[in-house]
Amino acid sequence: MIPEELLERYKLVSRSDAVCMLHFPKDDAELKQARRRMVYEEFLLFQMKMQFFRKIERERSNGISIDYDVEELRTYIDALPFPLTNAQKRVVNEISGDMKSHFHMNRLLQGDVGSGKTVVASIAMFAAAKSGFQSALMVPTEILAEQHANSLFDLLEPFGVTVGLLTSSVKGKKRRELLAMLEAGELDVLIGTHAVIQEDVIFNRLGLVITDEQHRFGVNQRRVLREKGEYPDVLFMTATPIPRTLAITAFGEMDVSIIDELPAGRKEIETFWVKHEMLDRVIAFMEKEIAKGRQAYVICPLIEESEKLDVQNAVDFYNILLTKWKGKYTPGLMHGRLLPAEKDELMRAFNDKQIDCLVSTTVVEVGVNVPNATMMVIYDADRFGLAQLHQLRGRVGRGSEQSYCILIANPKTEVGKERMSIMTETSDGFVLSERDLELRGPGDFFGKKQSGIPEFKVADMVHDYRVLEVARQDAAKLIFEEDFMNQPRYEKLRNLLDDLGVFGSEKLD
Ligand code: ADP
Ligand code: MG
Repeated sequence: MIPEELLERYKLVSRSDAVCMLHFPKDDAELKQARRRMVYEEFLLFQMKMQFFRKIERERSNGISIDYDVEELRTYIDALPFPLTNAQKRVVNEISGDMKSHFHMNRLLQGDVGSGKTVVASIAMFAAAKSGFQSALMVPTEILAEQHANSLFDLLEPFGVTVGLLTSSVKGKKRRELLAMLEAGELDVLIGTHAVIQEDVIFNRLGLVITDEQHRFGVNQRRVLREKGEYPDVLFMTATPIPRTLAITAFGEMDVSIIDELPAGRKEIETFWVKHEMLDRVIAFMEKEIAKGRQAYVICPLIEESEKLDVQNAVDFYNILLTKWKGKYTPGLMHGRLLPAEKDELMRAFNDKQIDCLVSTTVVEVGVNVPNATMMVIYDADRFGLAQLHQLRGRVGRGSEQSYCILIANPKTEVGKERMSIMTETSDGFVLSERDLELRGPGDFFGKKQSGIPEFKVADMVHDYRVLEVARQDAAKLIFEEDFMNQPRYEKLRNLLDDLGVFGSEKLD
């Protein structure tokens, strides 16, 4: 059922021949040929489904077009304190193109920590506000919501765009007033946690929803968001670099924009890998930084010794520092069992420099911004995946001072050693993510909580990624350009997709 023209273009053997050859291959060449056909078929079917969903997503918005004034937008961009990087310009064009068109935007914006996604978001929200639409920005934690609200307030309010913050600590009269303004259309931008999609939050004219760190939100929450109001344009931002082959599979129904360039003049974070024997020297290094007025993070993989492993956990580390630094410097301890309010309180204290060194399990991973922190120590670093190590390292290097990342690890496996070396060799998140995918394979890439990566029978997403790209392009062309639903020559493929339950269902499984 692969359309003739594609069979010919790629010189693919027929399905029955391929099945035969797979079972009784004459030689290696035949096996290869058969496999090539099956891989392409598998990817094409999968991508047809994704592109079909993508088309539904794009076209069902009944034509919200955010028709901003280009000159006005340019004035805003020119007034920013810095010129946009080329990558930022490119994604701004992609996003604003979506917003202006009557298609529904369903776009993933990937960009390493510090690549300037927030500014891009502000440009999109500016455009929406100036065309009479409201925007919502959703983030996973309250402290992040506050941080975003502060920077967006500074960016947008001078241009007459009103910004509001909705968190659980906004209560009573204040909350009622904020919600009333929102409903009356007096507020252009609302920032908050998932509180912003709750039922009592009524927008006057919601045109744009942006989420930060979307991998924390599942597929279903993504849908709830899209379906709020009259199908607003949706932009999902993430700082987790995802290799392209995974991005177009796990997020196959979305368009993908990538900021693959950091603003000029950033100091590279110096990364060292040391063995446990060096712990005292690491602490001495930390003291030197703190004496200069800087702050540090120490990240430990476990909160308690749950396994009979020689694992020093956050509590132990904290206690060591507490004794060592008595009256001199102040450590803080953060872990997953604290209440959200306690975590926020700790982060605030760290932010306000009341804490010199924050010892923590990985709860600081997402998005916190404390530019004065210049040191990231990761204990038993080989227990983390590369993507996570990279995220953690991204917590420092945010100010003008030189920052450091120290990985403490005595890895027992080759893969573990490899990971440590890669970390010291590159700080490019996309390079890291490709290497990570090679080391771990697609199944493990997103960790235990799988986020929608399909299983392929013959095809291998990593090995066959070129075929995947080609199949995606072919599928997009069929669905978007070729009148696929009506042309008689696609009938067989249509029937097959129908049998697979693609049409009629708008569900993504
Ligand atoms: P992200 O959200 O992608 O981690 P941010 O948007 O928070 O990154 O940007 C990180 C820092 O870089 C901010 O202080 C921001 O003002 C600054 N910044 C963003 N874009 C640029 C640019 N083009 N040139 C210089 N600095 C920039
Ligand atoms: Mg950000």
